[in-house]
Amino acid sequence: MFLESLLKSPSPTGFESSVQKVVKDYITPYAHSVETDSHGNLIACVNPSGKPRVMIAGHCDQLGFMVKKISKEGYIYVTALGGIDPGVIPGSLVWIHSKKGVVKGVFGRKPIHLQSAEERQKMSLELSKMWIDIGARSEKEARNYVEIGDPVTFELTVQYLLNDFVSAPGLDDKVGVFVAFETLRVLSKQKLSCAVYAVSTVQEEIGLRGAKTSAYSVNPDVGFAVDVTFSSDNPGSDEQKLADIKLGQGPAIVVGPNANLKVNEILFQLCKRKRIPYQLDPVGGALGNDANAIQVSKSGVATGSIGIPNRYMHTQVEICAFSDLENAVRLLAEFCLSLKPNSNFTLL
Ligand SMILES: [Zn+2]
Repeated sequence: MFLESLLKSPSPTGFESSVQKVVKDYITPYAHSVETDSHGNLIACVNPSGKPRVMIAGHCDQLGFMVKKISKEGYIYVTALGGIDPGVIPGSLVWIHSKKGVVKGVFGRKPIHLQSAEERQKMSLELSKMWIDIGARSEKEARNYVEIGDPVTFELTVQYLLNDFVSAPGLDDKVGVFVAFETLRVLSKQKLSCAVYAVSTVQEEIGLRGAKTSAYSVNPDVGFAVDVTFSSDNPGSDEQKLADIKLGQGPAIVVGPNANLKVNEILFQLCKRKRIPYQLDPVGGALGNDANAIQVSKSGVATGSIGIPNRYMHTQVEICAFSDLENAVRLLAEFCLSLKPNSNFTLL
């Protein structure tokens, strides 16, 4: 299935082409056009001559590493691609995506027996001091398989948990890509006034960069980012700090300066009328996702941000609920169907 194919395709930031190929193969039969650009974004469209122009973005890049150094003994040192949590690295399984294919490795760790009392208290969490062991006996042997600059991800496996919960590395934000392109697929069979562009953006994790370049070329009137948002329904979340958001209770609609009031009004009305469950995600500043870049593209874009509730963000065991994806697709499809050629989002 589409989501599983996305999750099993590597897309560390800056190395997104294998996942973009999956998106392209999936959407080509349904889209009027499918284009890629020199930055790596993939843009698919239905009803290109429609009005207004709607862009739905999900970022396809995932956190990862890149090979920086290989020691004389054949151990591999890496630099981070994006905001990886060093706390979850030691003892993890990784795949190095070399030119010859996947090379499996593990992040090593000093055995607990050999750690001093001080080390047990605060064993270094500096990535520069961590190493990947691929089983090589020497630098020469390691270099037969791995090159400096090769991208690395956590092992790309998908775990199906109870209910409709799914756990995998990179749910942030392959769930967003899934929602954007499923929405486009659903709309490809409908009569639409608006033009809809689903965009699989690159390099979000290092500064919303693919959203910047693609929003410029798509030139939308309305733009959505679909991205994961923190759920507050687990022991790791700070109840007072976070909005009340639970897995499986519907997509979280951002309210605040990064969301256009008229766009949100339509979303809330549709949720009520079509009985689509939703949650509220109040954010007082500019968002840390693609909606931020889209809103201030060119002379400004009416923006909405649809959050998919997510546990354990930026670890290799993130969790989302499948029903939240389905409801996000329903909501975005209904939004596009509700637009008229003269729909206007200018405030005042
Ligand atoms: Zn994200």
